[in-house]
Parts: sequence; structure tokens; C-alpha cells
Amino acid sequence: MVKQSPAKRVIEIKPVTDPNAKVYPRSISGRFQSWRVIFVWLTQIVYYGLCWLPWNDRQAVLFDLEQRRVYFFDLVLWPQDAIYLTLLLLLSALALFLFTAVAGRLWCGYACPQTVYTEIFLWVEKLIEGDRPQRIKLDAAPNSPRKLGKKTLKHGIWLLISMWTGLTFVGYFTPIRDLLASIGLGTIGAWEIFWVLFYGFATYGMAGFLREHMCKYICPYAQFQFVMFDRDTLIIAYDTERGDPRGSRPKKMADHRAAGLGDCIDCGICVQVCPTGIDIRDGLQLECIGCAACIDACDQVMDKMSYPRGLIRYSTENAVENHYQRPEIIRRAMRFRVLVYLVAFLTLSGVTAWSLATKVPLKVGVQKDRTVLFRESDDGAIENSFQMHLTNASEQPRTFRVVVAGIPGIRLHGASTASVEGAAMQDISLNVRVDPGSVASGSHPITFAIVDQDNPMTRVEHKATFWMP
Ligand code: SF4
Ligand code: SF4
Repeated sequence: MVKQSPAKRVIEIKPVTDPNAKVYPRSISGRFQSWRVIFVWLTQIVYYGLCWLPWNDRQAVLFDLEQRRVYFFDLVLWPQDAIYLTLLLLLSALALFLFTAVAGRLWCGYACPQTVYTEIFLWVEKLIEGDRPQRIKLDAAPNSPRKLGKKTLKHGIWLLISMWTGLTFVGYFTPIRDLLASIGLGTIGAWEIFWVLFYGFATYGMAGFLREHMCKYICPYAQFQFVMFDRDTLIIAYDTERGDPRGSRPKKMADHRAAGLGDCIDCGICVQVCPTGIDIRDGLQLECIGCAACIDACDQVMDKMSYPRGLIRYSTENAVENHYQRPEIIRRAMRFRVLVYLVAFLTLSGVTAWSLATKVPLKVGVQKDRTVLFRESDDGAIENSFQMHLTNASEQPRTFRVVVAGIPGIRLHGASTASVEGAAMQDISLNVRVDPGSVASGSHPITFAIVDQDNPMTRVEHKATFWMP
């Protein structure tokens, strides 16, 4: 006779049938949950810590909107380097296509900020209000000082985390040390206050209240990623063939198959641990964020029943249906679409890396003096004047030497060097002279070569036009 397990009775307290019903995920441990904890720590150490890292007497990573510069360790990007932003966006899109086609929703389950902050908020919630049954009971209980105290404490800690998150976010645009000092001195700007509060309350709302609704209804990636899925994409799958017909049974039941039962004991624990409140046994669903909590939960049940693990597992639709083993799953992961994404991603990464590695930290603009096309100088030569705009994109002061070529006997009259501070710009006036009769009248292309005196590898050439009467 098939008995109902105690776990089944627990789920009946709060059946997840109403899609808008509050979800009370039960906490679970296991190998995949350990990985999730590791990812929470890693992502948050990077996010909260990176803005405190000093580098070359400044913050290592800083988006300085006022000076229109981006600092990333030794790399300094100027507005003229906007191409790198385009490349970064293209690389991110390609990485997303590639990753999703192969690994499905691994990003959602382990590293997405929505998942990570929901997880952190759930830890706080569990610490203060207890696990799933206690939380359900507390919410159902009438208001009391105890309930009010617990809720106030929980929301207080959530708000602290949220505001620190907002402050950290703004700390990537205004140096974080200056930002904290400005709060202490009461000189913090209105925009900074706005963004700290905006980002802070967004974190509070999304991780504390919206939670799985963000993934279900708001996140655009969740909506369109199924376009990138196919039957060989990694998903969380329930093995219907092995698990059904479901039903509870005594733990010591000798041969459940003889009794017409599959391996699923219908305990419902995989549903209770699900942060989006779905039943993975109903098949692949948009709501599944791939967190693998149901795998860990079911593996524990299988261990208790002395059944093999993996009734719910990472697999692919084809693998579950055709009983593929791991080598076949990996072989099928390398399909045409994935190879196209991979080649495009590696090529673009290589081009970006090469471009960054050979990037010259000097930018030059040259403009001809338009008021006077040419003049005769005191030594009888023909003189053209130019304005040169130098940007020293390195962080050290540099002295640049300017050389001109393109016409026999062409030379610079007056200053031909300029010292420019680190990460600064400077305009210099250049007077170029050519002896009369060297070339015919009209316009002639010339070239300015600008060279770093201490490092000849830093060299930029710029074309201009010389006018002869
Ligand atoms: S799939 Fe596993 S965890 Fe879920 S109800 Fe069946 S036995 Fe329980
Ligand atoms: S079905 Fe499983 S993997 Fe998907 S969200 Fe729920 S617990 Fe996570």
C-alpha cells in the first residue's frame, strides 16, 4: 500500500498553484547549492571590493563622467575610444548567445545579480524568521510585537544591504573614498544622492519583494533566451521515464517497480525548494532559473530511498529522451550554431585584445589656421600655421617631439616639443616653413610625426595640407 510521506503533508500547507502566491523557498544544501554560495561570495567580493582598490594614485576602476574618462587598472579610455565600448557590447552579446546555447540558464541560476541578491536576502530572512514552515506560520499569524520586531529587523538589514549596494554603485562613478567623505561633510551632490537611493531601493524592491516575478515577467533575457535553446541545450530535467508513475511508498518497499511505481516518491520537496515555486516535473518552463535547488533536494531524497541520484539532473532534452551519456552530451554541445558563435567570439576577442595591447597612449588632432592660408616669413620662406591638439592618454607626464615631412626642405619654425601632464590635453601652435620654389603653387600633403621622447614606440602620424602661393 502506498502511504503519504510527511514531506507531502508539508507542501499541502502552501500548494503552489496560484502564480501570484508568495513563494517560501525551503533552504537546501548540496553540491550545486555550495557552488551558488561560492558564486554569491565571488561576485560580491568583486562588486563591493573593486571600487576600494587603489591603482596609480587613483581608483583602479572608475567611470569618471565629469572628465569623460574610464579607468580600468592601467587602461585609460577617452571619448575617442568609444569603439571599445561597442566591441565590449558585441562581445557580451556573443558570449550570451554562446553561453545560453550551450549551458542554458546557468548565468541566471548562479551569477545574475537578481539571483545573487535574492539569495542574500533569503539568508537574512531565514536567519531572522526561520526556514519555510516558520516563515509561513509567521506570515499567517496575527500582528504581535514579536512579529513586528522580526519584520522590522529583517527590513532594516535588507535596507542596509541595499543602500550599501547603491553607494557602491555610485562609488564606481565618483571615487568611493571621496563619496564617503562627502557624506560625512554633508557635501554630497544631489545626483549622487538620487542614484544611491535609486539603486538602493531598486535592490531592496527586486530582491526583497519582486524576486521570482522579475525573472518571470520583467527580465528581457528570460523572455528571449528560449529562442537560443534547442534540444541539445543544457537544462534542468526531470526524468519522467524513470520517475513516473509517482507515488509515496514505505522506505523499505522491496520492489517499487513491481508495485507500479517509478522512482519519484512524490514528496514535493523539489517544489518546496524552488525559488520560483514551479514543479520541474511538469517539464521545462520559462520560470525555471536553473538554480539546481531541486537537483540537490531530489538527490537527498534518492539517497534516503537508496535509489540512484539524478532523477532531476542537468541534462538536455535529447539526452533524457535518448539516454545519452555524458560524452555524447558533450559531443552534441559542439553543434554548428555553437561553433559559429565560438569562432565569432574568439575572433572578436582576439581583435579587441590585439587592439588594446597595441594601443598608443597619444591622440593627436591638427587644424590649419584658416584665417591666413599662408604668409611670407622674415627669412623669405612661405609659412603655414597649424594648431595641434595633443592628448596624453597615459598617466605619466610625457614630452612629445613634432617632426614634419612631405616637401623638400620643409621645417618647423619655433617650438617643436611639448610637455603634457599625465591624462591631460594641450594645444600647441606650429609654424611650418618651406622655401619658395620648392614645390608648385597650390595645396600639398604633408605629414606630422609626433613621437614620445622617452619612448619612440609611442608615435602618431597625422596628415595635413600645406598651401603654397
Ligand atoms: S522529483 Fe524527487 S524531490 Fe521531487 S517529488 Fe519526486 S522524489 Fe521528491
Ligand atoms: S525548477 Fe529547479 S532549477 Fe528550476 S528554478 Fe525551480 S528549483 Fe531552480
